[in-house]
Amino acid sequence: MSAKPTIWVLGDQLNTRIGALRFATPKSHRILMVESRHKCESRGWHRQRLHFIISSMRHFAEELRSDGFVVEYIQAPTMREGLARYRQKHPKSDITATAPNSITGRALMERLGIATVPSNQFLTPEGEFAAWAATRKSLKMEDFYRRQRVRLGYLMNGDEPAGGRWNFDEENREPPPRDGSNPWGEPLRDALDNIDLDVIAGLPDTATGDDPVGWWSTTRVGAFRHLRHFVEHLLPTFGPHEDAMLAGNWHLAHSMLSPYLNNGLLMPADVCDAVQWAYDNDRVPIASAEGFIRQVIGWREYVHGLYWLWMPEYLHKNELGAVRPLPSAFTDPSSTRMRCVSICAGDVKQRGWAHHIQRLMVLGNLALIAGVDPVAMNNWMWESFVDGAEWVMVPNVIGMSLHADGGMMATKPYAAGGAYIDRMSDYCKGCAYDRKKRTGDDACPFTTLYWDFVLRHADRFVKNPRMGTQVRAGQKLADAQAVRDRAADVLHLLDTGRL
Ligand SMILES: Cc1cc2nc3c(=O)[nH]c(=O)nc-3n(C[C@H](O)[C@H](O)[C@H](O)COP(=O)(O)OP(=O)(O)OC[C@H]3O[C@@H](n4cnc5c(N)ncnc54)[C@H](O)[C@@H]3O)c2cc1C
Ligand code: SF4
Repeated sequence: MSAKPTIWVLGDQLNTRIGALRFATPKSHRILMVESRHKCESRGWHRQRLHFIISSMRHFAEELRSDGFVVEYIQAPTMREGLARYRQKHPKSDITATAPNSITGRALMERLGIATVPSNQFLTPEGEFAAWAATRKSLKMEDFYRRQRVRLGYLMNGDEPAGGRWNFDEENREPPPRDGSNPWGEPLRDALDNIDLDVIAGLPDTATGDDPVGWWSTTRVGAFRHLRHFVEHLLPTFGPHEDAMLAGNWHLAHSMLSPYLNNGLLMPADVCDAVQWAYDNDRVPIASAEGFIRQVIGWREYVHGLYWLWMPEYLHKNELGAVRPLPSAFTDPSSTRMRCVSICAGDVKQRGWAHHIQRLMVLGNLALIAGVDPVAMNNWMWESFVDGAEWVMVPNVIGMSLHADGGMMATKPYAAGGAYIDRMSDYCKGCAYDRKKRTGDDACPFTTLYWDFVLRHADRFVKNPRMGTQVRAGQKLADAQAVRDRAADVLHLLDTGRL
């Protein structure tokens, strides 16, 4: 029995530089980690997501042990039960945790009577974002981002932005190379060790998706290897093709670092410092460095700030009145003839990951224009992505992707027809549908549903400066009624898994 205080490390806080662990030493603290069976079985989590989370936890426990810590790693039916077992064994040890990253997690800690210290997993303390928001009429990401650049000092020359501009985004919207070239090479893949194999063998029957084959590292050393690989091989071309999609390449120049940032194996400063170093040493152009830094100190921090600002009400926003169930095309990608959906949902099934434009402009776009229930979509993405977490899912799905917040986050809905997908990908070639058609049996469902969406919500969007032209164009369509009729058929086919 020991009165040494305990630090309870949660599954997305796997770093000795996070919160309560920062000041702990093997002499001063014991460590508790709980793996809850209920949590693993509570949803149809993707196998690679479950494996990534659990295996990273078990590897981290080993790492702490090799640093000299006494770690109690408890596998229990629930978190509460795990804690009870620990308390029985160490009744006099005070337990502290780092504040969880979700509202649900914090409520649980409160119910369990666990004291928490603030988290430093983000570069912007929650209070700081709320204080910024309180002074603004509108919460534009770009304004927040510029403030972050100045505050944090990334890519700055004194008070001026490096390269003379804050934002090189306009140069980053190129379609994919049409010559079949692959300047990005193959992503890293890890060999699975005994811990990984044990985790895989114990995955619950409720888990979905394909088995892990090493796409996602489960150690800090592995996460840093991915970071180094990204900076050396992908960062120099990060940017220009950020919005592009290719059937034969699932990653392009994306970093694939979100899982490690979200479970703590990497801290945001680790990746930003590495990119700053590459820029300072002339390894990467400013457009690439800026494009990436914007994602991390801008988008990621902004989304996190909005989550704490607007939750819990925000999750239940449904301004467009969307009630359709999740299409089976997402969970059974081989069942659909829409080539773009089959490829993107297939990537999710195969690896628990799809890049931003696949998430936003194919999967999210279809859910938006078909009117899929925001919570159903949110839950599916949360369950299916290796990098899913409540704080990141809710603003990205409810706000950015499905516009269910009525425009609190994005001034216009990210709705698009087949022409956009064709311009930014090679998906349409070889598809059973014709991206140029909006009526007829072989009309592209995206094109049909896009115009139907515009017409359905014409009253809401006609005065939107970024949508008005499209609404008026829709209202002038000579075949508007035929589009509506075809849309009704398309939605029926979508609902019955025959699209
Ligand atoms: C519908 C939808 C669902 C999403 N779900 C998730 C999710 O579950 N988990 C998640 O981490 N991100 C999510 N995102 C944001 C973004 O798509 C992913 O962070 C990104 O695709 C991860 O791949 P990457 O590491 O290669 O990113 P990169 O393109 O290399 O970008 C670098 C980093 O920037 C950060 N970032 C960029 N955009 C965002 C954003 N909008 N929100 C938060 N962080 C951002 C990520 O940490 C990412 O690792 C979602 C976006 C949409 C539109
Ligand atoms: S034609 Fe339409 S459904 Fe087919 S790949 Fe293109 S956008 Fe997707």
